[in-house]
Amino acid sequence: MSGKKQAYQESKLYRIRHSAAHVLAQAVMEMFPGEAKLAIGPPIEDGFYYDFDLPRALTQGDLAQIEARMRQIIQEGHAFDKRVISADEARDLFADQPYKLELIEGLEQGEVDEMGEPIKQKPEISVYQQATFVDLCRGPHVKQTDEINPAALKLMSVAGAYWRGDEHRPMLQRIYGTAWESADDLEQYLDRLEEAQARDHRTLGRQLDLFSFSESVGPGLALWHPKGARIRSVMEDYWAKRHRQGGYERVYTPHIGKSELWETSGHLKWYADGMYAPLEIEEQKYYLKPMNCPFHIQIYKSSQRSYRDLPLRFAEFGTVYRYERSGVLHGLLRVRGFTQDDAHLFCRPDQMDEEIHAVLEFSLSVLRDFGFEQFDVELSVRDPNDLAKYAGVEQDWQMAEAALVAALEAVGQPYERVEGEAVFYGPKIDIKVRDALNRSWQVSTIQFDFWLPEAFAMEYIGEDGEGHQPYMVHRALLGSMERFFGVLIEHYKGAFPVWLAPVQAVLIPIADRHLDYARGAADELKKAGLRVEVNESNDRMNAKIRHAQNQKVPYMLVVGDREVEAGTVSVRLRSEEELGALSLEDFAARALEAAEARS
Ligand SMILES: [Zn+2]
Ligand SMILES: [Zn+2]
Repeated sequence: MSGKKQAYQESKLYRIRHSAAHVLAQAVMEMFPGEAKLAIGPPIEDGFYYDFDLPRALTQGDLAQIEARMRQIIQEGHAFDKRVISADEARDLFADQPYKLELIEGLEQGEVDEMGEPIKQKPEISVYQQATFVDLCRGPHVKQTDEINPAALKLMSVAGAYWRGDEHRPMLQRIYGTAWESADDLEQYLDRLEEAQARDHRTLGRQLDLFSFSESVGPGLALWHPKGARIRSVMEDYWAKRHRQGGYERVYTPHIGKSELWETSGHLKWYADGMYAPLEIEEQKYYLKPMNCPFHIQIYKSSQRSYRDLPLRFAEFGTVYRYERSGVLHGLLRVRGFTQDDAHLFCRPDQMDEEIHAVLEFSLSVLRDFGFEQFDVELSVRDPNDLAKYAGVEQDWQMAEAALVAALEAVGQPYERVEGEAVFYGPKIDIKVRDALNRSWQVSTIQFDFWLPEAFAMEYIGEDGEGHQPYMVHRALLGSMERFFGVLIEHYKGAFPVWLAPVQAVLIPIADRHLDYARGAADELKKAGLRVEVNESNDRMNAKIRHAQNQKVPYMLVVGDREVEAGTVSVRLRSEEELGALSLEDFAARALEAAEARS
């Protein structure tokens, strides 16, 4: 568990929200006496929810009524009392609550906790009671309901949610709520939420005509429209240039590979649930690739490598397909088909420190160029109490972890060391970027792998003439192009900096007689290397400006009689600042300079 998560679970806010979830459940039970079936109700980031199986769909009116009843319960000041009970007592107590009975089963077996989360040790079974309401619960709670501030509480929405997230199980109604210590905190949270909604990449994606999803194509498979594709190709060009400079070699690999490949890599053993069903050709099974690694390994193995060939750095925009439940798909942020900006580094032990330092510095520098300045970094290492479950040898883990730590220290990046979060095949660094709303988004991973080089019997011939196993590091920098683009849209609220803007300038002729001049000027600017459009509509000038403003175009170039006469354009920024009349050359120089500076 990360330190932040642990701190939250120990906070007063967590107890308030968990308690509010119980109060919510009491209010719902009273609304549907004898009929409401309870599932689970945990605190979550910024609030809480509770899942119910109810005889009918809830309305907004119901929510208001439930919320009002919650305030009463809160003010009645009921104590939260804990009791430890046996599994049999629990079964008696929840005899008419089938979901709770299932959870009690899991608790008794020591498989899941009362929220259905997997656990390792068999816990004691306890219940919490306030007023008439009893819930299967290990707490913690506030002492009394009136410790919840009724003015800092709000029910937000109702949504469908499958029992235990499984689409083969019943669909429940999930009530989301939020609770804070003060009314001020609640208000600030609601403001933040409103701002986040105004930045929602799905809304902006439609408004700016950047991407869409089509029912006919399938869920989670993004279609990049011309304007979105323009931004993507700028990103890719920039990325390619930086990677060339950084000593990476680009490779291209196919979208499918034989089952044999995925057997050797272990994907069919450990990752089959995340893969699409195979295609059969000439009695041979092929799988859509969920990852690019095995292909890069085949390139490595295409010839004998010597210690002099290393390090090798293979980079690719590799499009992968992974099965995600339709319920968790979310715009571009969670999709089924996406393009990773993937790279694999292969090096000798003596090169590892330098290699890791370089890749970390490189990653942070690229992320900074995309406008991110703050990073949250996690170093994931082994669970010291369960060392047997990891691949590789002790010395490799120690060296790899030391290299990761040294690199983080060398670049002066604070990080959090999280024990037990490493995957079985190697330690890793995860980089999250903070966006304009101070939200954290996971983008980059630098991941050691002690499993694949072994599985594929990779080697290089050392100075001693013997075969040695190279170190292998997976590195995704932007992560997924789809997801990173979604994050960028929200970060910039669709107002992309000049270097990324799909349309950098729009020519706005005041009247039809200025159209020819506008087209000529647009051609000139395109030749200079700018992405320019002419607004050819019959709209009046103000409507054209409003349209450009809506499209968040950085430069609006108004042309009327005066501009045609003088061979200039009147420049207006999307910030509404007016720069006045500039010659085409001066404007082009200015815009190109802004693009160059990535502003
Ligand atoms: Zn509880
Ligand atoms: Zn990989």
